[in-house]
Order: sequence, then structure tokens, then C-alpha cells
Amino acid sequence: MTEFQSALDVVVDTLEQMRAGGGRRPRASRSAIEALLANRATSPEAEFTAPADTGIGSPSQAERLAPIRARVLVCTRCPHLAASRTQTVFGTGNPDADLMFIGEAPGADEDAQGEPFVGRAGQLLTKIIETMGFARDDVYIANVLKCRPDMPVGVSGNRPPTLDEMQTCLPYLAEQIDVVQPKVLVALGATAVEGLLGTRGTMRDLRGKWHSHHETPLMITYHPSYLLRNQSPAEKRKVWEDMLLVLERLGRPISEKQRRYFL
Ligand code: SF4
Repeated sequence: MTEFQSALDVVVDTLEQMRAGGGRRPRASRSAIEALLANRATSPEAEFTAPADTGIGSPSQAERLAPIRARVLVCTRCPHLAASRTQTVFGTGNPDADLMFIGEAPGADEDAQGEPFVGRAGQLLTKIIETMGFARDDVYIANVLKCRPDMPVGVSGNRPPTLDEMQTCLPYLAEQIDVVQPKVLVALGATAVEGLLGTRGTMRDLRGKWHSHHETPLMITYHPSYLLRNQSPAEKRKVWEDMLLVLERLGRPISEKQRRYFL
């Protein structure tokens, strides 16, 4: 059986389970539909099977991410999250980026829009990225978890993902990192670090120094939502100092204005 047929079986099974359960209607974001359409090829086998790496006509990073995105789109490894999500939130940005940001999980805004970091914390992350001298589309942004952690019916807000949920979803992020092959990873917040490295620590101990994730340099810093809760200039400056280390590691020029900057 080809990978395409396997994926199609999963889609059909999922839709039949949804219909039998009489629950939510399946929904897909515009970006998810566009990703699937972009992945359509003339032969079914071509859709989900990467061509042999001959060096000539090898698939681009975007082409290699497409089948991973397609598998995530119909994933039901966490049945409770598959049942509660509006849609999966795969990742966004440049598939060939030097710099990749990793958060913990989608929140309500991300679940609604199908893109990571689009709420208030996302706007602050975009500001950080732009102050570093990048456009948001220059970097790659993903979460450890691809589905919004479920909340009790009638309860608003977000909850952090459990370690079990993150470990279940982590293989997808590992595949994304393997395709993008960034020069530097930035993990945002202690929960993302726990999901990525399997270790729990305080941000005071973790941030501001270099770690390694499968030999890729990893900088750990505060999640933007922490800065929204804690408006202290000193805390904001810590994040910016972490980003200055990232710029140095990437060999990017740093202006005097950037060095003096406070978020
Ligand atoms: S969180 Fe990840 S592993 Fe769990 S259902 Fe969603 S995509 Fe699948």
C-alpha cells in the first residue's frame, strides 16, 4: 500500500468517525487547503513519496514539508485533541530559514486561524523578529504541539500542553526541523523546552546561554506571553539580550541602535 493510500484511509476513517459521532463538522483553514492542493501531483504515488535524492530535481524544503503537513492535518494520535480542535496548526514561514522559533502549542487565536503565534503574544514575537532585522516570513515558526490543548466546555482561555501530549506530537516537529535545518533554534518558554528536550528547568537557569538540540545551537528565552504578563523593562531586556546572542551566532550585523534596544 502506498503512503498516499494510507493517508487517504486515515482521512476517510476520521471523517466516518466524525459522522458516526455526530459531533463537530470537520473544518480546514485556507492555508491547509492550499497546502493540500499544492501537494496534488499527477500520480497518487508522487504526492507522498519524495523522489530519490539524485541532486537533480531534488524536492525543495517546501515540497518536503507538504506531506508532513498533510499527515498532521488528519492526525488523530491524541483523540481528545483531534475531537476538540478547529484545525491543526502546522507551522509558518520560510522552509529554508536560518532561524526557527519553537513555541509550546496553539491557543484559541491560532486554533481559529490555523497559524502559530497570531494572537497578542504572536504580535510581540513578530515585533521581536522585525527588530532583529528579519521579516516574519524570513524565519520559520512552529509549536511542539500541533493541536490546541482542549479546555472544559464553556471555559475560555488556554492551558499548557501536558508532557504526554507533547511527546506524542514531537516527531512532527523533529521532521520539520530536519527539513528546514535552521542554523539556530529558539525555544520560547519552559514548556516548549520541556517538550523539546524532555527536561524541566527554570527560565532563570535555562535562558541566556547556548544549548544544543541534535547539534543545532538552541537558545532558550521567555515566551512572549510572559512579557505581556510582566511588563518589567528588565525582563524585556533579557529577551532582547538573548536575541542579540542569536544574531551574533548567525553572523548578522548588529547596529548600535539594536544593541541599546529595549523591547
Ligand atoms: S497534538 Fe499532534 S499528535 Fe496529537 S492529534 Fe494533534 S497533530 Fe496529532
